[in-house]
Amino acid sequence: MKRLGLISLLLILLLTSGCLGKNPATSERILAFGTLIDVTIVETPRGEATKAMEQLQQLFARLHRDWHAWEEGPLQQTNQQLQAGTWFTPSPQVLPLLKLSIPLTEASEHLFNPALGRLVDLWGFQGRPGNCTQLPQPAQIQALLQQNPRLSDLQWQGDQLRSNNSALRLDFGAVGKGYGIDLAIDLLRQLGIRNAMVNAGGDLRAIGHRSGRPWRIGIKHPNGNVLGALEISGDESVFTSGNYERRYYCDGKLYHHIIDPRSGHPSVGTDSVTVIHSDAATADAAATALFIAGPDHWPGIAQSMGIGQVALLDNQGNLYLTPEMEKRLKLLNDRVRIRVVDIAPAE
Ligand code: AMP
Ligand code: MG
Repeated sequence: MKRLGLISLLLILLLTSGCLGKNPATSERILAFGTLIDVTIVETPRGEATKAMEQLQQLFARLHRDWHAWEEGPLQQTNQQLQAGTWFTPSPQVLPLLKLSIPLTEASEHLFNPALGRLVDLWGFQGRPGNCTQLPQPAQIQALLQQNPRLSDLQWQGDQLRSNNSALRLDFGAVGKGYGIDLAIDLLRQLGIRNAMVNAGGDLRAIGHRSGRPWRIGIKHPNGNVLGALEISGDESVFTSGNYERRYYCDGKLYHHIIDPRSGHPSVGTDSVTVIHSDAATADAAATALFIAGPDHWPGIAQSMGIGQVALLDNQGNLYLTPEMEKRLKLLNDRVRIRVVDIAPAE
């Protein structure tokens, strides 16, 4: 009798951990957008999950090519057409990403500004890797700041488009990964998959649950440790922008890839920002915009972008949290000083 009890207990444990379930988790790694994307699909027959993985591989390979900021492909072609200043029909591979970016630039007061490709390139965060011997000349930055390229410099006529700013060059590095993950989740849903996570190095969207439990994820501290942990379920995206990702040092000064459109220089004051939101494209763009808005101005930008869950770590060790984020984030770092900031709900 005792033995029977022990066996049933073991069985329950195995089942709830997903090890003995009919359809255990299927995981795969896909390389795209210069990062490894981990996809986990649960409660789906192995054969279906494997087919879904193949389709995701193809999707990410296509998006990687379509949106690459400096290699040959549809985005590079669009940039050449914009540069020419004449009317053209934008590529259907680029158009949706461009269109969804426009309201995000406006809501962020153009802190999220995918028209800044030339500045990103000047600082060495496109094909040419940045280094101390090739820092941009102040005059080059000044010239681009004066031309002030924005998506609002695009003119539309039916399905035709032209730019009236020769400094405008598109770079979707701050939103493409998010939109790509949204498209991946759409595809999984079309295939009937209800429980999955698509995780590009900590930037992710998860739907459903993991074998009856919430998905558990870690939030990186810029110093390489873990800042905290989150449980997510239902349908949520978590995105982090940090100064630790693509960077170099010159004379002890840090140069990283998030450019403040107001100064033309890498943004200062923030070390990292994590945002939780429903769709991944908005979460991605918002994390970048709030990073630039910094410790003093992020609440206003979060409000106008409709973001209620934010954790912003400044360069003084202050961790600013919205009340909703404070309730959810399990802090695993006791060095930070918590500042809870209530932002008025969006109207
Ligand atoms: P993220 O890691 O999502 O914050 O995106 C950073 C990437 O977006 C950079 O590597 C650049 O390609 C691009 N980027 C840099 N600064 C900006 C900006 N102010 N607005 C939009 N995209 C930017
Ligand atoms: Mg982003």
